[in-house]
Amino acid sequence: MSLISLSAGEHLKNNINKKKIEMALSKLLTFNNPKNHLEQYPTDPSTAAYLVFMAAMDGNIEGKKILDAGAGTGVLSFSALMLGADEVVAVEIDREQLMVLEENLRKFRNIRIVIGNISDVEERFDTAICNPPFGAVIRDSDLPFLDIIFRNCKNIYLLHNYKNRDFILEYAKKRGRVLREEKITISIPRMYSHHTKNYEKLDCILIWAESSS
Ligand code: SAH
Repeated sequence: MSLISLSAGEHLKNNINKKKIEMALSKLLTFNNPKNHLEQYPTDPSTAAYLVFMAAMDGNIEGKKILDAGAGTGVLSFSALMLGADEVVAVEIDREQLMVLEENLRKFRNIRIVIGNISDVEERFDTAICNPPFGAVIRDSDLPFLDIIFRNCKNIYLLHNYKNRDFILEYAKKRGRVLREEKITISIPRMYSHHTKNYEKLDCILIWAESSS
């Protein structure tokens, strides 16, 4: 066995563990003028670190070209860059998050921030990391995300509302294969007027899928 294949990667070996990522994420700026219709919610540090750490353990982060689809404040991009991604492209539709993304990701050189619609992404990527709108405010607003990540990316890490589990699994099976499925509970901070508690818990499905395109 060669040395390279001995570990999940340099960055994992160098002790960039999940806790370190979580701590760094907790210091980042959050949404500027958050917009409910875009379902702007930051993935909580524990979930974001977990999603990307798992992807890294699967060999899909270090040295890879990564799409952060619907980047928001950049927590998933940040995690991937900490874990040695070769290049991350963070695509976010809301121009008001540009300053936040620039500030949060400023210590990395191999990041490209694109303000635009996910539907316009034409490049190919090794890996997608994606916590999209769930289509709860504007129906089907998640569909362009699913389409692009399965069309343009080989390995896909997708978080979605557990309520849509059957749909997500069926979709992923049509356009590739599901390599792992997990139920996780995420924590949503109070951000909009319809929220009544400081934090809401929400059951989510997290999948690792391989696209056939
Ligand atoms: N991925 C981030 C943000 C999740 S919220 C995180 O994990 O914290 C979903 C994000 O998708 C929001 O920032 C929203 O503005 C963005 N978004 C919504 N529709 C979009 C579209 N069509 N194209 C690109 N980004 C979009």
